[in-house]
This record gives sequence, structure tokens and C-alpha cells, in this order.
Amino acid sequence: MTESSSGPAAEQWDAAVAAVRALGGDAEIQLICHVSPDGDALGSMLGFGLGLRRLGYSRVRATFPGDFRVPDPYAEMPGLELLVPEADSFPEPALVLVFDVASESRLGGLAALVEAAPVSVVVDHHASNTGFGTIRLVDPHAAATSVLAEQLITRLGVPLDAAIAECFYVALATDTGSFKFDMTTVAVHELAARLIATGLRPGDISRRIFDTKPFGAMKLAGEVLGRAVLDPAAAGGLGLVWTYATLADLARHAQPPYVLDTLIDPVRSVAEADVTVLVKEIADGQWAVSLRSKGAVDVSRLAISQGGGGHRLAAGFTGHGAAGDVVATVRRLLDDYLT
Ligand code: 5GP
Ligand code: MN
Repeated sequence: MTESSSGPAAEQWDAAVAAVRALGGDAEIQLICHVSPDGDALGSMLGFGLGLRRLGYSRVRATFPGDFRVPDPYAEMPGLELLVPEADSFPEPALVLVFDVASESRLGGLAALVEAAPVSVVVDHHASNTGFGTIRLVDPHAAATSVLAEQLITRLGVPLDAAIAECFYVALATDTGSFKFDMTTVAVHELAARLIATGLRPGDISRRIFDTKPFGAMKLAGEVLGRAVLDPAAAGGLGLVWTYATLADLARHAQPPYVLDTLIDPVRSVAEADVTVLVKEIADGQWAVSLRSKGAVDVSRLAISQGGGGHRLAAGFTGHGAAGDVVATVRRLLDDYLT
């Protein structure tokens, strides 16, 4: 089976290419990715932005809503010079492209800019994508948004260079869990091969984005993992493992919130549980809830029911109240979304 059997319709690809080609070299082009950006959000956006630069578009800005901090693992990503704080976005861009954003709620204050743009191209791979944007390159079977971003720059005639390739490689490695997840197809490895062929050093990149963390982040992880709870009866007896992290935990170890982004991975390795929940405090009584399943539960549908979104086996939403209550709600809902 190949990925070419599904994916965006030919008219959507043609419309996206035409939307870019219609612009003059001095047109203002705004790129946007989701709040609290991860490797796929930043990598697909910045790689594409560099591609536009190679095509001769000089006025390209990239941004994301909320806290304007690039997580340390991505501090050396090529294309960061395109990044501007949300407030410095073009107020009336000729074209907006949105990367890795499942719903307008993930755009914060930038949703209005997308809404007002004459043309907005949405490049995304979330099953829960809500269908916003005027041109839609959305493929829930794509392993990463960068798979689609790479296809679009190729259709625009931009050859891959090492800088663009590094952005797309970081994105691909992030969203496939280092080429481990189910969507790691032949086509994904072929794309990785094309990217590496530009001269990338995958070992260096992996060390930087996955295997480097401050001492405080390691100690914090120890505490959060140490308080994990196993609930074998949940999810129809297939089991739930959950834990939480508060803003006080972050402050005690002097760590920024993004250090919690990958902490769900050691938790979800627990053999006795199909479902994993990590509840991360983002403001007083407000929690970013990360959900993972090994197949028992469609966590995307569960997350959508709570105003969030994601993929079938990896999703999230914003929860309110006490951490224990948020988990209790999820535990109750698991039975409704057993697959
Ligand atoms: P994570 O748990 O790693 O933050 O996110 C897992 C998946 O769920 C990602 O694809 C992410 O985009 C999606 N996701 C996480 N939180 C939210 C949310 O609050 N709203 C939506 N729409 N998607 C989310
Ligand atoms: Mn993604």
C-alpha cells in the first residue's frame, strides 16, 4: 500500500501551487504553526519558508501563537531567522499558510488573521482537522505535516537543500517517534533517505532533539514518573496509567513547560496499561491533557468530545479543575471510545 492512494485531491494541490505562483516576489506571505510548537510544527513551517525564499519570495514571516519560546531542542533548526513574535505578523498578508494545526483553537489570536486572509492554505495531518482554510492539504494518513510540506515545495519546483531537509527531517523524526510509529511506511523511509542524501547527520540531529536535556528536567521527570498511578481496571480492563505535572513542579526545577512534551513516552511504555494520560498544568486550574493509546481506545474522538483533537492513538485537550477530576473524567469517557 502506498500513501499516494489517498491524500489531498489533485485540485487542492493545484490550487495551492497556483496560490503561491500568483504572488509577486515582494508579496507578504505569513506562515503559522500551532501553539507550543513541536518538531513537526516548526520543521514543516520553517522548511517550507526556506523553500519560498529559494523561489525568490523575500517577504516571508513565520510565527506561532502564545508564549514565544522555541524549545531548546529546536534552537539550531535552520530557518529560525524567519520567525517573528505573533505581534509582528504581517497584518494583511496576501497569503497565509498554516502548518500542523488541527483546529482554529490551536491558533489562539492568529485565528482572526487566517480568517481574514484572501487565501489560506492549511497543511495538516490530523484526523480531527476541522476543515478550516480556503485550500486544504490535509491527509490524516501522512506521518507528519512535513510529508505534505515537502510535496508542496517539490510541486513548486524547489530542490531540497540541506537546510530545508534538516527542517523536514526533524519534523518527520519527531512525529514518527524516531521512525517507530505505525505510519512509518516505505514512503516515509524513502523521504527520510532523500532528506539524508542532502548531507544531514541523523545521529547529531537525534542527539540534539531527543537525547539532550538539562539536569533539572531529568530530576523533574523522575518525580513525575515516580508519582504515576496504574489503574488496571480502566479501559475495559486493558488498563490506564496516568500522572501529572504542576507549574510548581516546573518552578522547583527551574524548567520551561516544553520539557514535559516528551515525558509521556516513558509513561506509555508501561506494559500493564493500554491507555496513558499525562496532565500538565498550564495555568491555575487549567491542564494540557495528553492522551495515548496502544489501540484499545480512539483517543482522538475522546479528545474532540472535550474540545481538543489529535490522532487515533495520540491526542489531547485542555482540561479544567483539579488534576484528579480531569483524570476521572477521562477514565469515565474511555469506555465510550473503546475501539
Ligand atoms: P501531545 O499530547 O503530544 O501534546 O499531542 C498529541 C496530539 O494531539 C498532537 O497531534 C496534537 O496536535 C494533538 N493535541 C494535543 N492537545 C490538543 C488540543 O488541545 N487541541 C487539539 N485540537 N489537538 C491537540
Ligand atoms: Mn504533526
